[in-house]
Amino acid sequence: MPDIPKWRDPLIYLDNNATTPMLPEVKDAIGFILEEGFGNPSSVYQIGNQARVALEKSRGIVARALGALPTEITFTGSGTESDNMALFGATFPYFHKGKNMVISNIEHPAVDLTADWLESFGIECRKAPVLIENDMVLKTPFLDMVDDQTVLVSCMLANNETGLLLPVAELFDEFHARGILCHTDAVQAFGKSRVQVADLNCDLLSISAHKIHGPKGVGALYIKRGTPFNALIHGGAQENSRRPGTENVAGIVGLAAAVERIGEKEDHIRGLRDDFESKLVKFFAEKTIIHHKELPRTPNTSSVGFPGKDGNMLLIQLDQKGICASTGSACHSGALSTNSTLLKMGVPEHIAKGTLRFSFSRLSEVSQVNEVIEVLRKIV
Ligand code: PLP
Repeated sequence: MPDIPKWRDPLIYLDNNATTPMLPEVKDAIGFILEEGFGNPSSVYQIGNQARVALEKSRGIVARALGALPTEITFTGSGTESDNMALFGATFPYFHKGKNMVISNIEHPAVDLTADWLESFGIECRKAPVLIENDMVLKTPFLDMVDDQTVLVSCMLANNETGLLLPVAELFDEFHARGILCHTDAVQAFGKSRVQVADLNCDLLSISAHKIHGPKGVGALYIKRGTPFNALIHGGAQENSRRPGTENVAGIVGLAAAVERIGEKEDHIRGLRDDFESKLVKFFAEKTIIHHKELPRTPNTSSVGFPGKDGNMLLIQLDQKGICASTGSACHSGALSTNSTLLKMGVPEHIAKGTLRFSFSRLSEVSQVNEVIEVLRKIV
């Protein structure tokens, strides 16, 4: 075992959009495979077959949860990898042919930076601004950006910073009618809101295990049957040659165990989030802004602006009390950066800089809400 420094468990963990603790059932499932099932799923003898059965049963569970076919699910090493595979896989045939792709301007870096990278292969990347009018995300900036050279649109289903749900299904209906492939990054939506591939009308969809109480380093990409797809990784026939490499069977079984439990505590999570926000309004009145409160959003996320305050400082003060929250993007929690989605959506800098994200999970408790409110009353 590496010499890992000991760390103190946080007293209150409200950063579940960054990652989630594994559920006991997930740990049991992973432990079982680690103990009993070391076989390579490609081997023909019995322990290989057992691993293959575990793998395929897990594929069935993930497929059912998304309303997909098992053959449409490819296991990957993360949500980031799923996004990379989707964008590369769909645009590869069009490299240096004058084609373009359209993404929203609030995508996670897994999509945003991959799209930038694809520009070096001659795929122009256009970023549609996410604009709100009458409590709705406007579709027109996306529709105006696609043309007859657009080969792919990628639009996230739920934003990691505010939980905002984008009108992906409506957008994709329009783009499909024009023969454009459609990808959605559902990493933050899956397990929190209903995610069914048929409703979304998508060709490609990414999920990640560690956002739903599964293990880190496991994801999946839905690739609709018949969608032209080119592999990013080469070297074997695993995952139908779409993602070669001996499969992470324990991690995949852990993902499936987590998927089996999604949706179980949605009312509890929503209730905590609503309770937290109503207490914020009560105690801070006009001194706080709850971003995207009136818009469709995931039930677990509160993005709270304390105008004029320094979010990084607040975060450190919360940490001193054993409370974990975040300022900006999930994967940047440690980086203490300015909240970029909010800035891109026109939130003034003095509010964006003073914004904290609290993200709840099925393991969060009412007493934690009250304690965080008390601490905030002292430090803000
Ligand atoms: N997409 C979104 C919207 C995310 O929030 C994240 C992680 O925060 C990712 C992709 C990346 O997922 P992973 O951490 O599994 O690479």
